[in-house]
Amino acid sequence: MSATLRLTVRERAGARCEYCRLPDLVPHLMRFHLEHIRARRHQGSNSLNNLAWACARCNERKGTNLSGVDPDTNRVVRIFNPRRDAWGRHFAMDGLRIRGATATGRATAWLLEFNSEERLKLRQGLRKLGLF
Ligand SMILES: [Zn+2]
Repeated sequence: MSATLRLTVRERAGARCEYCRLPDLVPHLMRFHLEHIRARRHQGSNSLNNLAWACARCNERKGTNLSGVDPDTNRVVRIFNPRRDAWGRHFAMDGLRIRGATATGRATAWLLEFNSEERLKLRQGLRKLGLF
């Protein structure tokens, strides 16, 4: 995909991961990817409305998944779609933790491991620098 498309998606995302909100200002800490919301394997296109700016961790954890399991109810639900869903409706910050506020939010937070020890340490470091 073109460098222009990459820049367009990054700018639209405000230079943050559209899933965990990690800023991409420290590239040696975390690589960022153009992520297919609906994977190519599931007939997802390369169009702007199917692309998201995602940190390497979110991209790896999401993989080709379109759904996940809500840990509160054990039900299969669709996961967060940055083109269709408002982040603030599905997630809330709780200190350094990202809490799922809906079934979709909880399933996504669990699947993408938003609150792993590694990510909490990274957010803590960025917060100290005023970057998160
Ligand atoms: Zn992320």
